[in-house]
Amino acid sequence: MPETRIEIPAEALERLKTAGSLAVLTGAGVSAESGLPTFRGKDGLWKNHRPEQLATPQAFSADPKLVWDWYHWRRGIVRNASPNPAHLALVEMEKRIENFTLITQNVDGLHRRAGSREVLEIHGNLCEARCSVCPASAPLEEEEGIVTCEACGAFMRPAVVWFGESLDTALLEKAYVRAGGSDMFIVAGTSGMVQPAASLSYAALRGGGYVLEVNLDPTPLTGEANATILGKAGDILPELVRRVWTGGMQSA
Ligand code: NAD
Ligand code: ZN
Repeated sequence: MPETRIEIPAEALERLKTAGSLAVLTGAGVSAESGLPTFRGKDGLWKNHRPEQLATPQAFSADPKLVWDWYHWRRGIVRNASPNPAHLALVEMEKRIENFTLITQNVDGLHRRAGSREVLEIHGNLCEARCSVCPASAPLEEEEGIVTCEACGAFMRPAVVWFGESLDTALLEKAYVRAGGSDMFIVAGTSGMVQPAASLSYAALRGGGYVLEVNLDPTPLTGEANATILGKAGDILPELVRRVWTGGMQSA
């Protein structure tokens, strides 16, 4: 339990308690407390490469082994990591709210591993590969180096969405519908610098939902959202669950 009592606006608690539908958008900050580096944090660098220079189709064409090595390294970290209290709090919310949708930009699969069910992984998952030529896809485990397609022999690529690429249209459409149609929208651990994911918060605002932001630091959404709580997602999301459902009798 956090030492200092977290300030949560009374309206946010009331809205959460009465929400018939909740959509949540998560970003790399939600997995930071599981030990996974965010792209923009100080640990985001890998062998002196910036993620923005690796997570692109251009980087993959220029040096597929370099890009694969980076994903193998990231997958290794993910395999050894566990869901943290932020992931678990979202599982609890899903149990309590009838229409729940979790939209994540994270490619680490930790929400599903934590037990979340309705998860839209709009940027894909780094534990899968897909062929860059044919429709084949495959789960990844211990692979090293460039992964090739068993069906056609071409290079496979990580099944993630890279900078400059389009998201799956049907998945994105579903995310917009859920964001725009929800009574409440929680945005946690995302810098709001990556589109179109960032625009989902504005779709929620336009739809009349109550938008609550949770982040360590202010973002472009701060000031637009109905409320922002600054702090760690792993402290704040469980605190929301405690205060709304599982015993608001908090000491201190
Ligand atoms: P980002 O790195 O741009 O921003 C992370 C945000 O989280 C920052 O605003 C930071 O202040 C905040 N943050 C950091 N630690 C936090 C904590 N403990 N609690 C609350 N907030 C915290 O991440 P993004 O907005 O998700 O965009 C980056 C892109 O990189 C996305 O497309 C995503 O797919 C990808 N990415 C994914 C992972 C992952 O799957 N774990 C990791 C890095 C990057
Ligand atoms: Zn193939």
